[in-house]
Parts: sequence; C-alpha cells; structure tokens
Amino acid sequence: MPDHDQSLWLKTCREHVESHPLTDDLTVDLAVIGGGYTGCSAALTAARSGASVCLLEAQDIGHGGSGRNVGLVNAGLWLPPADIRARLGDEAGDRLIALLATAPAEVFDLIEQNGIDCAPVRNGTLNLAHSALGLRDLQKRHGQLSATGAPVELLSAPQAGRRTGSAAFHGALFDPRAGTIQPLGYVRGLARAAAGAGAQIISHCPVETMQFDRGIWTLKTQQGTVRAKSVIQATNAYHQGLTASSPDYVPIYYFQFATSPLPEEIRAGILPGGEGCWDTGLIMTSFRLDTEGRLVIGAMGDLGHAGRSVHRAWIRRKLAELYPQLAAQPLTEGWHGRIAMTLDHIPKITQIGPSALSVHGYSGRGIAPGTVFGRLMAESLLQNDLSKLPVPVASEYRENWTGLRRAYFEAGATLMHLVKTRF
Ligand SMILES: Cc1cc2nc3c(=O)[nH]c(=O)nc-3n(C[C@H](O)[C@H](O)[C@H](O)COP(=O)(O)OP(=O)(O)OC[C@H]3O[C@@H](n4cnc5c(N)ncnc54)[C@H](O)[C@@H]3O)c2cc1C
Repeated sequence: MPDHDQSLWLKTCREHVESHPLTDDLTVDLAVIGGGYTGCSAALTAARSGASVCLLEAQDIGHGGSGRNVGLVNAGLWLPPADIRARLGDEAGDRLIALLATAPAEVFDLIEQNGIDCAPVRNGTLNLAHSALGLRDLQKRHGQLSATGAPVELLSAPQAGRRTGSAAFHGALFDPRAGTIQPLGYVRGLARAAAGAGAQIISHCPVETMQFDRGIWTLKTQQGTVRAKSVIQATNAYHQGLTASSPDYVPIYYFQFATSPLPEEIRAGILPGGEGCWDTGLIMTSFRLDTEGRLVIGAMGDLGHAGRSVHRAWIRRKLAELYPQLAAQPLTEGWHGRIAMTLDHIPKITQIGPSALSVHGYSGRGIAPGTVFGRLMAESLLQNDLSKLPVPVASEYRENWTGLRRAYFEAGATLMHLVKTRF
C-alpha cells in the first residue's frame, strides 16, 4: 500500500516528538483528539496559556493529512475572496479573509520561535495558468486579492517561464506571503513545542467513546480514561471511531511522487527562486523542490486502487512535458493522502456537545488555516467565548451523496490521467 510509509516526508523528517502512553486516568481542562496541525496548534495554545491539556492521537503525530501533504503554506482558502463573502456573508467573509491573510506569517513565526526543523522556505508560491482560461481565472483572483490588500503579482508567460524553468504555462499569480515546509517536520515540531509547554502528548491511543455528564467529558481509550472540561475533535479526513461525531465531507485522494535528487546542473534551471507551485488545471498538478533537490510532483488520485499504474504513468508524461530534461529521472517515493472536501469548500466548525467543538473540511488548504483554527478553537473554549471562532459555529453539518461524489472525482481523475497531460 503506497500509504504513509512510502512518503518522502517520513523518510527525511528530522523532527522527533516524545509521546508517552496513557498509563493513568487523567483530568484536564482541555482534551484534544487528533495530532495534526489543528490538534497540535490547539494543544500548544492551551498549554502556553497555563491550561492543562492532553492530546490523544490514534496513530503517530502527523499520520493524517498533516504528514502527507505538498507543504505549500498558503494565505487564504482555495476560494477567491468574492466566493468566500458569497458563502459566509460580507462581515464573516472579510473576517476570515483577513485572518488567513496573515496565517502563513503565524506558521513561519511558530517555526522560528520553536526552532522547528522543517526546512521552511519563505519565497512565495506560484499559481500557474495551464491554459488561456486558467490565466483569466488568475486575472480575476489577482483583482480580488489586490483589492483586499494582498501583495500578489500577476506574471506573464515569459516571466512564469523564467521562474519555473518550464515553457508550459500561460502566466502565473505570485504570492510572496506564502512558502514551503517539510510538512511532517512542522507538525511534529508543533507537538514537541506543545509537550515542552506542558501538554501531554499521547500517541497510538484512539479515542473510542466520549460522553458528557454533569459538566465533564469522559473520553475512553483502550489505555485509560481522560476527563476534560472541554474537547476539541480535530480528526478531519482521518476520523476513526466516534461515529456520533463523525464529520461529513467528500474524501478526495491526492498522490505525490518524488524524483531522486536532481544533478546540480539540472536543478539550477528548475524553480531557481524556490517557490512552491500548483496549476489551474481541473485535475490540479502541484510541484516543488525539497532541500535535497528532489522534485515532488502530485495530482488528484488514489494510488491504493486500480488507477495506481495510470496515475504513475501520467506523472511520468507530465514530468516530461513540464521538464523534458527529467523524462528519465527516477521516481523514488510515491504516497497519497486523503483530503476532506466540503461542498462549498469552507471549513466547518460544529458544536458536538457542551464546550466541545469539531472542525473539518479545509478542502486541501490546511497548513496555515489548521494552525489558526486550532489556536482560535482552544482560545474560544478556554475563555468561553465562541465569538472568537474563525467561522460561525454550526450545531450540525451534513452532506449528501458523499460516496457517489468521491467515486465521480476518482473516476474523473483516472480517466483524465489515462488520456491527457494538458487540460
Ligand atoms: C496529499 C495532500 C496534499 C495537501 N497539500 C496541502 C498543501 O500543500 N497546503 C495546505 O495548506 N494543505 C494541504 N493539504 C491539506 C492539509 O494537509 C490538511 O488540511 C491538514 O493537514 C489537516 O490537518 P488536521 O490537523 O485538521 O487533520 P489531520 O492532519 O488529518 O489529523 C487528524 C488526526 O486525527 C487522528 N485521529 C482520527 N480519529 C481519531 C481518534 N478517534 N482518536 C485519536 N486520534 C484520531 C488521525 O490519526 C490523524 O492523525 C493537503 C492534504 C493532502 C492529503
């Protein structure tokens, strides 16, 4: 199975987090379920504020999306500002846009303050136009983002060519606020910092049930019980068990392959500025370099099913189209992860009981948003003030036809990868 174990990030991660088994029953102010960016940011915030906090992770820290992603630390969501306002209303929309505009700075500050070993590169990102239509979308985004004060820059086709070292693009939108990280290093570093601030980090300890009675939550695991005044469920697309609070979303698979380190003469001509990239294609492609000069390239698709050979063959063709000099470069690692996509692409915070919140649905943009949402959820619960939350809290969130929609997206990605490189 090309799951987490074949991930480049697992192979190259230099951060370690000490985790202790749950040997005793615990009583804390805040229990956090899930050790991704959201849960670790919440635990760090709570511990720093002096609250007692325990984070329970079913597998290892970073087992979910946080250990598998592309590592693009972007400002904002997928949606352009006008769509965020249309979905949330002007006031809540503007608030979220402003919060996420500074989210990459929060991530890079946390990395610096805590000495997190995750190869941060703050050289911006390039959203690349794969077609004339894609360029029109970028022009629209540029106008809307500039109007919010974002320092984004629209690049012509020759400029995009110089920045990427590829002749494949019609133009690009450059965002200097953004950058790249080693994603697993960042989440492990957050957990290490949380433990340093006093949080109890417990791995390999799935929460099996949670119940509220007389003002206190009881979380049961195979290893013991945690009692807490407040709970944050940050399990997103990797939720397991706990059926009553299971988040609803369409699971979208996204795979990546890494080349072997590029020879210096080839590497110098590819992304010389070190930006992270993704394109405007319907079935999007992303690519970036890591610190050793490997090109990490990915697209939508599930490597764990029959489409694996189709997706791999497509990556080879795509690589040759973008960079003919890489046509024969070996691909040494391949892995995939699951994205929680909501229908309107807005993350959802739901109240799953008294003083208990769940969040999911970053829809492929969770590094900076997850860090900010985790912090604000912890602050809101500990200060008993839900007005601080980044999106309005719902009492319930349900979606229809999630299985069918997942099958539709996967079949579409496989079909496109079977027949085309350009869309
Ligand atoms: C392949 C891929 C590429 C992506 N690329 C980017 C990108 O470039 N930029 C970006 O911003 N975002 C990206 N994303 C999205 C981003 O990775 C996620 O939005 C983010 O990691 C979500 O973090 P999280 O903490 O909410 O959840 P996760 O990191 O998924 O963590 C949830 C954790 O909860 C644990 N858990 C589940 N159930 C239980 C239980 N019962 N008890 C205890 N623990 C439990 C799981 O084991 C898991 O570790 C990508 C996602 C994928 C999959």
